[in-house]
Amino acid sequence: MTPFSEIIHKDTFTRDDIIRMLTCTGDEINELFARSAKVKEENVGNVVYFRGLIEFSNICSKNCYYCGIRKGNRHVKRYNISDDEIIEAARFAYENDFGSVVLQGGELESEAYTARIENLLHRIKEISDDKLGVTLSVGEQSPEVYKRWFAAGAHRYLLRIESSDQQLYYKIHPTEKKHRFERRIKALHDLREAGYQVGTGVMIGLPFQTAENLADDLLFMKNLDIDMCGMGPYIEHHETPLYQYKNLLLPLEERFVLSLKMIAILRLLMKNINIAASTALQAIDPFGREKALQLGANIIMPNITPGIYRDDYNLYENKPKITQNAEDYKRFLEERIAQIGNVVGYNKWGDSLHFKERSGGEAG
Ligand code: SAM
Ligand code: SF4
Repeated sequence: MTPFSEIIHKDTFTRDDIIRMLTCTGDEINELFARSAKVKEENVGNVVYFRGLIEFSNICSKNCYYCGIRKGNRHVKRYNISDDEIIEAARFAYENDFGSVVLQGGELESEAYTARIENLLHRIKEISDDKLGVTLSVGEQSPEVYKRWFAAGAHRYLLRIESSDQQLYYKIHPTEKKHRFERRIKALHDLREAGYQVGTGVMIGLPFQTAENLADDLLFMKNLDIDMCGMGPYIEHHETPLYQYKNLLLPLEERFVLSLKMIAILRLLMKNINIAASTALQAIDPFGREKALQLGANIIMPNITPGIYRDDYNLYENKPKITQNAEDYKRFLEERIAQIGNVVGYNKWGDSLHFKERSGGEAG
């Protein structure tokens, strides 16, 4: 059997290697994290990029079994932030040198919705002298819609596959037209075709999920040749159908370590992509995101949604609440990032180096 220290130094990894790393214990975990930290430093350096996250609406037409803001949850106070408030949040990001924003929300499909996002993209470009980068995360849309938004200035798109295993996918989504696995896969291809830097990811620690599933998720990302990844622990929400399987879940601390392992292994597999330290990590450990940044992630998404709406974007329980105002929060993050020997890449898009390489173009 190949020694663990040899596996982590490989250049290409088999499914068995990945499973071995996912299931490692004790000192091996530290060995893995030290290796991925080194690979991160050598390939993407120690610069962390901010993406100001604007959760602009919790209105959703879908019913994913895990998500607190699913359409069927009658207890959610629905909101839709006005265009002017979204632009104000983007202006804050611009004036505070964030470089980029992420517009995220529930999934809706209509001409009015498409036109609204298109208009917001134009306005964000206008107020920032074309300088603010924009990532979208608003679910599955037609290829034409993706193209329109790309033409209007969005250049990155996050669409988690959630699970690359079709059987598991249908355990966490209704089996009906609006939640088709094939469509989600197709959407990822359409996004790439439209010219975006494409990001995907999965939830880690789902009920019924195995180490084999997670290894296949990582291989799925590698085969899709993604540019970015945002993945983090699944955290249950009592007003969702998946909550009934609560007893099957790993303890939160184990889901947390498994999530860090996933980030570390992905960094070994895809050395120059952008990997986000997800907010869900922080819901389990107050230093969760910093730990992820230390061992492989290089992106953080500070929440700049106007304060009055934040509590209603409750995807899972104990979603971290930010009590500081946006300026104080920025300083707080900057200090935390300095503590782990990293620096913030202000005023830069911080595009995926992988995208630059595959497209032969310029990454901002
Ligand atoms: N509606 C868009 C979509 O689904 O792609 C974007 C917004 S959605 C809230 C963003 C992500 O939240 C999803 O991709 C999912 O992975 C994550 N999420 C939802 N419920 C979660 C939960 N209970 N635990 C952890 N992550 C969750
Ligand atoms: Fe809607 Fe996204 Fe939540 Fe699914 S994960 S219910 S699409 S907001």
